[in-house]
Amino acid sequence: DLLVVGSANADLVVGVDRRPGPGETVLGSDLVVHPGGKGANQAVAAARLGARTALLARVGDDAHGRLLRDSQREAGVDTGGVLVGGAPTGVALITVDPSGDNSIVVSPGANARLTPEDIQGAGALIAAARVVSVQLEIPLDTVAATARSLRPGTRLVLNPSPPAPLPDEVLAACDPLVVNEHEARFILGVSAGGTPEAWAQGLTALGPRSVVITLGAEGALVADTRGDGAVHVPSPRVDAVDTTGAGDAFTAALAWRLGLGEALAEAAAFAVRVGAAAVTKEGAQASFPTAEEVAAL
Ligand code: ADP
Repeated sequence: DLLVVGSANADLVVGVDRRPGPGETVLGSDLVVHPGGKGANQAVAAARLGARTALLARVGDDAHGRLLRDSQREAGVDTGGVLVGGAPTGVALITVDPSGDNSIVVSPGANARLTPEDIQGAGALIAAARVVSVQLEIPLDTVAATARSLRPGTRLVLNPSPPAPLPDEVLAACDPLVVNEHEARFILGVSAGGTPEAWAQGLTALGPRSVVITLGAEGALVADTRGDGAVHVPSPRVDAVDTTGAGDAFTAALAWRLGLGEALAEAAAFAVRVGAAAVTKEGAQASFPTAEEVAAL
């Protein structure tokens, strides 16, 4: 089974002609509310592919929390680990201007209250998982507690997004660490230059057992310390409409296939197809493909 430990947010989206300045009010389009957050996105992406998936997250006792639980259940996710209360559900306040540029304010809300104690309280869920997938929209202490809670043989997949400095014990537990170009540069502390091969080498030196770097339309580069050298996994060529959520779909698919026992390059070859399918549709969760849609790509 796949367990996703992470965030759940309501994305509140309003279109505007232009952004308000300080003290100014502008009128926007009708509000659209989408379920989002990287944890919730990954769980839906995996379940839609057919993976047995559970989500460990925290939402508020409010309408956004119910929206998130409903969308998880509809996708087939086990929501027994979705804790309720402590703060309002996390929200992302998103304005979109006519050129398509987003301005986003995130209020983490209940996501910031997912604690190491919550991880300890979820022993049965964690024990049932072959793979546990985490991101950084929850407290770093909680991510570290998750890494420490794993039984031998359970794999940790970490997408450090939004990027933050990672403790050595967390880096050492990653198998793999999954980063895009921006996250790779952040963790390596390099602002420009370099090649994906060089980043993979640099990241591997930080301690994870394996590394995956996603490269947008170029697919992904995978490097396993138990294998020989980095392997480039190309993405199918598609007409990209909206890349929102592509990384979440990729990581969920990768984590699921690793749990089925596939080798890293094999799992990545499936995951790039899932990521590519996700960019052919608008939205995040709404764009995630079924297994049939991946096969048809
Ligand atoms: P993120 O969304 O985290 O920035 P990427 O942009 O690297 O991550 O995308 C993740 C995966 O989604 C890629 O590895 C690839 O498989 C797929 N993908 C993203 N953009 C495209 C694209 N334009 N064409 C085909 N596949 C894409």
